[in-house]
This record gives sequence, structure tokens and C-alpha cells, in this order.
Amino acid sequence: MSRLEVSVDYAAIARNVSRLAGMAPGAAVMAVVKADAYGHGLVDAAAAAREGGATWLGVAQPDEALALRAAGDTGRVLCWLYGPELPARGLIRAGVDLSASSLPVLDTIVAAARMSGERARVHIAIDTGLSREGVRPEALPALLDAALAADDAVEVVGAWSHLAWADRPGDPTIDRQAAVFREALVVIEERGIALEVRHLANSAATLTCPDLHFDLVRPGIAVYGLPPVPDGGGGDWGLEPAMRVTASLALVKDVPAGEGVSYGHEYTTPRDTRLGLVTAGYSDGIFRSAGNGRGPVAVGGRALRIVGRVCMDQVVLDLGPDATERAGDQVVLIGADGPSARDWAEAAGTIDYEIVCRFGGLKEKQRP
Ligand SMILES: *Cc1c(COP(=O)(O)O)cnc(C)c1O
Repeated sequence: MSRLEVSVDYAAIARNVSRLAGMAPGAAVMAVVKADAYGHGLVDAAAAAREGGATWLGVAQPDEALALRAAGDTGRVLCWLYGPELPARGLIRAGVDLSASSLPVLDTIVAAARMSGERARVHIAIDTGLSREGVRPEALPALLDAALAADDAVEVVGAWSHLAWADRPGDPTIDRQAAVFREALVVIEERGIALEVRHLANSAATLTCPDLHFDLVRPGIAVYGLPPVPDGGGGDWGLEPAMRVTASLALVKDVPAGEGVSYGHEYTTPRDTRLGLVTAGYSDGIFRSAGNGRGPVAVGGRALRIVGRVCMDQVVLDLGPDATERAGDQVVLIGADGPSARDWAEAAGTIDYEIVCRFGGLKEKQRP
């Protein structure tokens, strides 16, 4: 029996994408499915996103783009994270759009396109202030000149950037980055390049910055139903979390007051009680930092927290003296009837992105 069951509601992913499309009526939607679709399963999540209306898919790594093609996806896919060693030939053959952040990467793409006799579709990545991927604005003209000089091999179809602080609506970096982006677009268009798509907005900007939707929005976390920002009215934009994580009680036993629980005895039973053992630990994705009254679960509709340290493959719950649960009963770690990924993030001192990547990354996904 698997120790943690991770199930994904793919229909919820389709509905989330369709909601996001409704919130960006002037733009196309690129569902970001990097990192195994944030732990939700690349191929099935991508198919669900397509069903929901994503005309584009976005991935970081070349092998993710090729996996989408191998699974039969024939729509637009953009891949953006690699150095000059990228396997450009295979990606161009597969009809994957490629991002270019630098001259060495562009050179690889040009050489591969010439060898394969196919023109590469390229999106120029602009570093507007995140200082991660992208060409700095002062280096943009040289990159554009190189792309134009190789226009037998590459077609510049897109320009994009990424925001540093979109999850803090109103943060001054958002407008500053948008202004740098707009200036870069002018530089590109002044060279006679007719862009098919200009794109800047991640989930938070898709939800809160309608002026930054341009031609295409690139939501990731919201596709999986996790709101990057509250909707202002205490709501969650109608997004539906797609991932459910459960385990089961392997053992339930009565223990007297005053017994130390788990390594280091950081918890001592405060009264005669009934303990439940769950056979999932940090090797299954449960953060070790979520022990000692932090990691949330629900058992029989009751909210409980892990007691004592999180071990490699098990944790203990104090079910209370009157508990009626028995071995085999379900423990909900993440679900509509239990804690959220955000609850886990707060317990573990991280963000919900890392929670779903981690739980999802270590476990098999099953279709409901
Ligand atoms: C991950 C990523 C996104 C999606 O970000 P979310 O915050 O999950 O919406 C969009 N664009 C780029 C370049 C990314 O790396």
C-alpha cells in the first residue's frame, strides 16, 4: 500500500484554466506546466489545461517540452530555461517555440535551425528587473540584430518578461518592470519585427493586473487552483485546488499520560490518550520542519496536528482519549475536507508552490 496517496482532479484544472481565460478576455492563455505541472503530472495536467482553453503550454526544461510532444500534444509550446547547450535541433523539429536570453543561446538555435532546414520560432526574453533569465535592456539591440541577421533560420515571434513581485499587488516594481518591458517592445517593433505574442503576466498578474495581460498570460499556480493573492473580498477567485493528499492510520493504540512520543520526546502525552500512527514521513514529502504541533491533518473531520518529530517514514497523531478512529481510517493532509496546501506551507515555513511540487513529485498520480 502506498504511504501517501496523491490524487489530482484534472477536471478542476480544466475549469481553473477556463476561469483564468475568462479573467483575461483579451489574451490567450499559456498554462505553465513546468516541474511536472507543479507536481500534478505533466501529461494529464497539460491535457486538462488544453481542454480548459489553454492554446499555449509553457515549460522550463527542454525534456518537458519533448515529453509533451511524445504524449501527442500538437499545440503551441514555449520552452525557456537552458544554456547554450540546449538540444535545439530536437526542439525545433518538435515545433517547440524557444526563448532566447543571450547571444550564445541564439547562436545554438540558429546553427540547429540551419542544420535541420527549419526556421525556429523564438521569443526574446527581456530582463526587466528580476535579474534572472532574459537579456538586459542595454544588450537587447545586439541580440535583436543577431536574430535579424539570421532571419533565414529564426523568426522572432514573441517577447516576454517575468515579474519579481506580482503577488504583492501595487508593489512599485510591477509598474517599473512593465515600463521597461514596454520600452523593449518599442525597440523590437522599431526594427520592423511584427510580434505575434507579447507576454508578462504570471498567475498573480493575470488575476490582479488586467493592464499587463498583453497578448498572452502565463499562469502557473492558479491553474492548479492555488490563489497567489486573495481576491480582495476574502475569496479565492473561484479557483479549485486540484491536488488531494491522503494517508491512512496504520496503528491506533492507547497510551498513558506522561509518555514521550517520537525521537527526542519533543511531545509528551498530556493525559491518557489514543495515538495514531501514519506511515508517511519526510521521505514522502512531509517537511521535517512541520513536526511538533505544526503539520496539519484532518481525521474523521477533526483538525489535528502532527505531534513529536517527523520521522523518515512515519509521524504520530494524538487522536485524543475519546477517539473512535481505527487502523485503516483515512488521514487527509490536503483536501477540501482538510488542510490546504497553504496551511502546510505555513506549517513548514515555505510557500504552497513547494508543497505541491514536493508531495506531487514523490508520488504516483492517479486519475479519480
Ligand atoms: C513559473 C513561471 C510562471 C508561472 O508563475 P505562477 O506564479 O505559478 O503563476 C510564469 N512565467 C515564468 C517565466 C515562470 O517561470
